[in-house]
Amino acid sequence: MADPLLFHPGAYDPAHFDPETRRLLRATIDWFEARGKRRIIEDYRSRAWLGDFIEFAAKEGLFATFLTPASAAEREDQRWDTARIAALNEIFGFYGLDYWYAWQVTILGLGPVWQSDNAAARSRAAQLLDQGEVFAFALSEKAHGADIYSTDMLLEPDGDGRFLATGSKYYIGNGNAAGLVSVFGRRTDVEGPDGYVFFTADSRHPAYQLVKNVVDSSKYVSEFRLDGYPVGPDDVLHTGRAAFDAALNTVNVGKFNLCTASIGICEHAMYEAVTHAHNRILYGRPVTAFPHVRRELADAYVRLVGMKLFSDRAVDYFRSAGPDDRRYLLFNPMTKMKVTTEGEKVIDLMWDVIAAKGFEKDTYFAQAAVEIRGLPKLEGTVHVNLALILKFMRNHLLDPAGYEPVTTRLDAADDAFLFQQGLARGLGSVRFHDWRQAYDAYAAVPNVARFREQADALCAFVTDAAPDEQQSRDLDFLLSVGQLFALVVHGQLVLEQARLTGLDEDVLDELFSVLVRDFSAHAVELHGKDSATAEQQEWAVAAVRRPVIDEARSARVWDRVQALSGAYEMTS
Ligand SMILES: Cc1cc2nc3c(=O)[nH]c(=O)nc-3n(C[C@H](O)[C@H](O)[C@H](O)COP(=O)(O)OP(=O)(O)OC[C@H]3O[C@@H](n4cnc5c(N)ncnc54)[C@H](O)[C@@H]3O)c2cc1C
Repeated sequence: MADPLLFHPGAYDPAHFDPETRRLLRATIDWFEARGKRRIIEDYRSRAWLGDFIEFAAKEGLFATFLTPASAAEREDQRWDTARIAALNEIFGFYGLDYWYAWQVTILGLGPVWQSDNAAARSRAAQLLDQGEVFAFALSEKAHGADIYSTDMLLEPDGDGRFLATGSKYYIGNGNAAGLVSVFGRRTDVEGPDGYVFFTADSRHPAYQLVKNVVDSSKYVSEFRLDGYPVGPDDVLHTGRAAFDAALNTVNVGKFNLCTASIGICEHAMYEAVTHAHNRILYGRPVTAFPHVRRELADAYVRLVGMKLFSDRAVDYFRSAGPDDRRYLLFNPMTKMKVTTEGEKVIDLMWDVIAAKGFEKDTYFAQAAVEIRGLPKLEGTVHVNLALILKFMRNHLLDPAGYEPVTTRLDAADDAFLFQQGLARGLGSVRFHDWRQAYDAYAAVPNVARFREQADALCAFVTDAAPDEQQSRDLDFLLSVGQLFALVVHGQLVLEQARLTGLDEDVLDELFSVLVRDFSAHAVELHGKDSATAEQQEWAVAAVRRPVIDEARSARVWDRVQALSGAYEMTS
């Protein structure tokens, strides 16, 4: 029997989706299984371009169906539906992050287009999607990294309402093949933010020069150069501040995909890891008889379940967002930074167990171990997302507001607001519903109650021992506070989703025993920070807690983990 909490290609049946969505998800799984593990690994090792996959997606109309919003749709099944997009991310992550990446940067490339009212550019994009083309998003430059205010992609006006664009872009996925590249630049004749422009380019135009793939991978992460590339009115997507907002709002849409991709990676790797460990006999017993091995695999399992619960619930807030409900602006960087770093921990835990096996070239694990590292670093680093999360801390913890409950959002709606997010400012004024409600509902679960003590302690920290003026410039200190806050938010959405789905309470309790330990570890970290005051140090030590131990509960959770042994092996 497949574990109902994990994706299993054979048992997968997302009955909540409409028939065409189900058909496409199934066709994607079947394509990967038919291609087979040996070929997929060989393509990964030889860094082959993803032509066959793109051809499959084109034939099925996969991207055109999933990535054309209702406002540009020509067919009934086309809509921008984050729930099914998330489902597809998980499948791509499960089979290989390179496939996911080609789709992910297509999403990013479409972001500025679907936010634009340039009808010509929109209809060109819809047509290209329909023809099975992939897209690209060209924000990054070699010299500027996360500093997206700086751009040396220069648009020179010709006095006739047109421009010639010249400059380089770096780290641009699909830059080798994209039918449409959304490029961020600035006008040479306008100073400051008013000069920003988002425009479209065609990677096959003679003034578009592909320089190289900057990474050694099937992902084509390009450097390209525009040399006097002609940009006409039909190519201009956004100008001025709106261009900058379109960049940030596109990243808001795109970064949501990283959590589910990392979940898919962890799931496939977990089937392999548990199967290997459980069948490897040392000193006459399976490796899984070691208590430390059980602990590591059980921790990996509950962390993975936590990743899934958080991400599934975040989908609901993402889809229910609007001008008066911008809570997604917290939950979204959480999916990005917290879920993907949890993914790294899951892989690390399992790799400690399977050791040499994790290097073998015929495993999926070997690529999982590499690829899982990328997700926390793309679409803004962990630091950048954690710094973003911190902006919401005070309002979230101390000043709740009333909201109608957000229901599970697996319906076939078009998430139109994502392309009308508006100004990317005013984060400090976003309000949240009371996080305590989710915790109260599970007060009887021992480790939820234990963790709640730590969450309450964090509120006391923010009220009584908050960083002073000088300390609030010490990002090293602040980020360790951010880690504590992120745990409280993580726990909140995990609990909300647990309630909505009737999660097994053993699993929930075991999961929170991990969160209690994580909070304690981050509190100790904060204790040792250079600028921690005596009061903060005292607070940190007092916030350390021991999880509530229950051997019978742990044994029951272990049974679930052990049952993953032999539960799935990809078609060879
Ligand atoms: C495989 C891959 C694919 C990519 N695909 C694309 C793509 O398709 N399109 C695209 O436009 N870009 C793409 N990128 C670029 C990616 O988004 C950047 O790598 C990322 O934005 C961070 O830039 P950087 O790595 O140069 O780090 P830097 O900006 O050089 O950062 C250096 C350090 O400073 C920290 N830092 C920087 N700013 C802040 C801040 N405000 N607060 C706190 N800490 C900060 C960072 O966390 C980091 O530790 C891709 C990158 C890779 C590796």
